[in-house]
Amino acid sequence: MKFTILSIILFLFTMKGSAAESICFGTTSNGSLKGGVQLPREGKNFISYSHIASMAGRTYVHSKVRSIILNAYADLETSQPLKVYKYAETGFEEGGKFRPHKTHQNGLSVDFMTPVTNSSGNSVHLPTHPLNKFGYDIEFDDKGYYEGYAIDYEALAAHIVALHKEAIKQGYEIWRVIFDPKLQPYLLKTKYAKYLKDHVQLSKKRSWVRHDEHYHVDFKIPCQ
Ligand SMILES: [Zn+2]
Repeated sequence: MKFTILSIILFLFTMKGSAAESICFGTTSNGSLKGGVQLPREGKNFISYSHIASMAGRTYVHSKVRSIILNAYADLETSQPLKVYKYAETGFEEGGKFRPHKTHQNGLSVDFMTPVTNSSGNSVHLPTHPLNKFGYDIEFDDKGYYEGYAIDYEALAAHIVALHKEAIKQGYEIWRVIFDPKLQPYLLKTKYAKYLKDHVQLSKKRSWVRHDEHYHVDFKIPCQ
């Protein structure tokens, strides 16, 4: 009798476990999400772009995307121990229209703020607050400089590689990475160049906004 009750409890627990995975619907530009999960505000080597935006529910993703992102940050603690990272807009808990973005509708799109170094060469966060539209108003020059900050291409390339490796490990893929085509050649001067060329699709065409202060990643996870 005891055994039976235990089995039922275990069964219910397992049911609950599987129900906790998110389900995405449609596409990144016309879709929705069921059971979206929020990214933590911070971790050892990363933070959210804004507590206000987190509170406003703008940092939800598909549960698989969350686990890929968090595992990638954990990998970077080892591969790039001195670098710090900041994520930005992702989407709403239930997906759907996410202004001003054209995509970000089914939990599979994530924006990350571009990693930078300061004038002393240390890894620091880009400033993000309401006055600079949470960082999105920042404009880098054609080489990747902005007010004493320099794009940290090594840290950026390492992050894309970590995301890709974690996606693969979990049986998924990265569909595309959008980053200013004019700045992409610098990524291909890092030690991650070969991996990026072999495995990652970097956007070739210009998108509706310049992706210099942030890069956009779409994950490839089956949706209904
Ligand atoms: Zn985006």
